[in-house]
Amino acid sequence: MIKNIRECIIVLVIILLLPILVPYLLLKDRVEKRRRKQLASRFVCVECGEVLGVEAIRLADERWDEIVKAIIAKSEPGTRLRLVRTVDAICPHCGCQYLYHQAERTFVVREESPEWERLEPKLDSE
Ligand SMILES: [Zn+2]
Repeated sequence: MIKNIRECIIVLVIILLLPILVPYLLLKDRVEKRRRKQLASRFVCVECGEVLGVEAIRLADERWDEIVKAIIAKSEPGTRLRLVRTVDAICPHCGCQYLYHQAERTFVVREESPEWERLEPKLDSE
């Protein structure tokens, strides 16, 4: 009985906090996207020496959408997916791919993972 009351209180607190949490999380996401765009507009590519620019973010978003669609298409229906983004910026000049490190607020060159390579060559051939 006490356990049920405790669970009810926790659910009630979460429901009461939703009007605060949802706008906070949306605002935090917008701020983070703006930071990435600002960083990209001045970040110099380590491969070719050109500035990435906002185009790099758009290219990475398109690439990520393609990757997610390919993963969903290859998954069993009803499979719960937990995805971690594997590309945040792609140099429009040379194609070098970067991940965003939130703690350092910088881009780092994406290291190839066997798991990513397994999926992405198939994606390129489609
Ligand atoms: Zn480059």
